[in-house]
Amino acid sequence: MKGFPPDLQKRIIEALNNKGANKACPRCGHGMFGLVNKYHVASLQDSHEGLVFQGDGLPTVIVNCQNCGWLAHHALYLLLPDLRPPEKPEGGALPGGGS
Ligand SMILES: [Zn+2]
Repeated sequence: MKGFPPDLQKRIIEALNNKGANKACPRCGHGMFGLVNKYHVASLQDSHEGLVFQGDGLPTVIVNCQNCGWLAHHALYLLLPDLRPPEKPEGGALPGGGS
């Protein structure tokens, strides 16, 4: 599988730096992070009665500490709002979200 194109990787790193998300690792204090070169999608659900393996997801980018491996997730659409897809006609309601 391919990773981020170089121009997107550069935009993500610039966005993290512009927002000040470039501090030392909160676990070990190491200063070097790497960008995991693929999106992660966190599953969103509104039911507390069990796991739901369908519905919306929140795309994130992950940076990892190069010393201890600590992971930080950043919501993609807050870093790069232009990548957010258009709003759904229903106003963004979660599919199967109940009444
Ligand atoms: Zn660390």
